[in-house]
Amino acid sequence: MSENHNNEEVLIEGIAASPGVALGRAVVYLQKQLDVPCYDLKDDQLESELERFDQAILETRAEITQIRDKIANSLGEGEARIFDAHLLVLEDVALLDEVTAEVRNNKKNIEFCYDNVAQRYISFFQSMEDEYLRERVSDIRDVSKRLLHNLIGMKNVNLGHLAAESIIISEDISPSDAADLDRSKLLGFVTDAGGKTSHSVIMARSLRIPAVVGTHDATKKIASGDNILVDGHEGIIVVNPSQSRLFQYGKLATERKKRDDTFNSFISEPAHTLDGASIELMANVDGIQEMEHARNMYAAGVGLFRTEGIFLRHHGYPPESVQYEEYRSVVEAAEGQAVIIRTLDVGGDKIIGDENVKEDNSFMGSRAIRFCLENVDIFRTQLRAILRASMHGNVKIMYPMISGMDELFQANAVLASVKDELIEEGESFDEKIEVGVMIEVPSAATIVDLLAAQTDFLSIGTNDLIQYIIAVDRLNDRVAHLYDPAHPAVLRTLKSIIDGAKAANTPVSICGEIAGDPVFAGILLAMGADSLSLTSSLLPEVKYFIRQIKKSDAQALVREIMRINDSAEIVEKLKEFRQNALGELA
Ligand code: PEP
Ligand code: MG
Repeated sequence: MSENHNNEEVLIEGIAASPGVALGRAVVYLQKQLDVPCYDLKDDQLESELERFDQAILETRAEITQIRDKIANSLGEGEARIFDAHLLVLEDVALLDEVTAEVRNNKKNIEFCYDNVAQRYISFFQSMEDEYLRERVSDIRDVSKRLLHNLIGMKNVNLGHLAAESIIISEDISPSDAADLDRSKLLGFVTDAGGKTSHSVIMARSLRIPAVVGTHDATKKIASGDNILVDGHEGIIVVNPSQSRLFQYGKLATERKKRDDTFNSFISEPAHTLDGASIELMANVDGIQEMEHARNMYAAGVGLFRTEGIFLRHHGYPPESVQYEEYRSVVEAAEGQAVIIRTLDVGGDKIIGDENVKEDNSFMGSRAIRFCLENVDIFRTQLRAILRASMHGNVKIMYPMISGMDELFQANAVLASVKDELIEEGESFDEKIEVGVMIEVPSAATIVDLLAAQTDFLSIGTNDLIQYIIAVDRLNDRVAHLYDPAHPAVLRTLKSIIDGAKAANTPVSICGEIAGDPVFAGILLAMGADSLSLTSSLLPEVKYFIRQIKKSDAQALVREIMRINDSAEIVEKLKEFRQNALGELA
């Protein structure tokens, strides 16, 4: 909740996660424990505070009535009666008068005063002998919670239908929240938790909206309705930005636009270095809605189709026909270019429900291919849909989270059996469909020779690989500073994977977020990666950068940084390289 009620500027810092600047109205979407704020009011703020109270009562009344009617229709009037009692509590004149008096006398904010009065009522009823009156305690608790939620701007925000263009402020945005989000009205978001590779951040990048994460306490410093500026380049949020701040940002926006225009002007050119080396730049997508942009950015196909978005948007496991249509639409939109469809990567933070539940240590649990091999029916349905979609273009299948040969063999056995089934049914599919695996677990990274010998291609998922190599949860803001792509262990592992793939003549790509960072793109090209797959919005800058460098210089840089033991020094070298390549555009 905002501590800033005098229209003063407040600066909040976090991790710059998705570039861009947004200015707009904050909508606070809280999910966890209610934290009732307490702050002083000036005399001239008392009336508007009481108006806020009236408004919250109206909203709460409408909500309770709506639930009441729904329950009455589905379960009957008897079951709905409890909500009549809630309405009586909400509009209890004695309680409301007490709250109003408390605001006027104590000059504290309405949430604090209401909570105080409600707590007094709860203690009073709790001490009653009469059982009926004692039971009123839970009514008061429920109603006060609902009203406080409305005052603070909590969960009852419907993320799927935002009332107006908004910047969402939340403790965290889970992949299922992200799947439901009303993308048309979302200007940007800020979360207390999260790191640079949280799935909500990946979504923000694909939507080309700013995101600042890992702020620890933005939800306590920003209130719904606050005017805020989110700077996703620098990882800053400004509450109540001043005129001079807005002016300064206006100037920056003009400069950034010039820079973007330069990058965009080369978008249709090939991704060639100055000394003639080339690399394929493909797109990461999570559905048909991203294909138009990917095509406009001249992506050389889809290097990673994250299929779990389809499952999250359907809140379950869609039938084969639904999946087939989704895959087919993407494959057709790619017009003959390759589309690498990754099989379901559920688990970790992506919870669909029923078979798939949140586990302790979920990133090390029944995730991705492990889940699919445990739930073969779900896996088979998806493979059938992918295989059938393969008739409409150039489809490849990719298994996520492979940690050993046995998983690959088991997955391939299911695939072979699904193919047999389709043949028996007379269904056609690409019988030579290529199959690859993601290298995102350290055990897979150390057996690249074995995996490469049994697959058509490899794709390095650095988002997970980094979290597993350094043992740093990619979503945990407390350890986000340890999540370091320039860690010598990460660079050595990347080099050894690429060397292993080259030795086996197996194409290797990188589809984690580092592929969208120009300097990393440069060193991955130098190490020998055949392609990079990245969020389409980052394609222009990466392509421009590659066109400004020589592979031989990038190779020299790789040799140099591989000898450095301190990642901060490595980052300096990378920045220097970037500066030399981009000049004033860096
Ligand atoms: C990765 O781990 O790098 C990756 C691309 O997969 P995701 O981010 O979906 O886990
Ligand atoms: Mg991954």
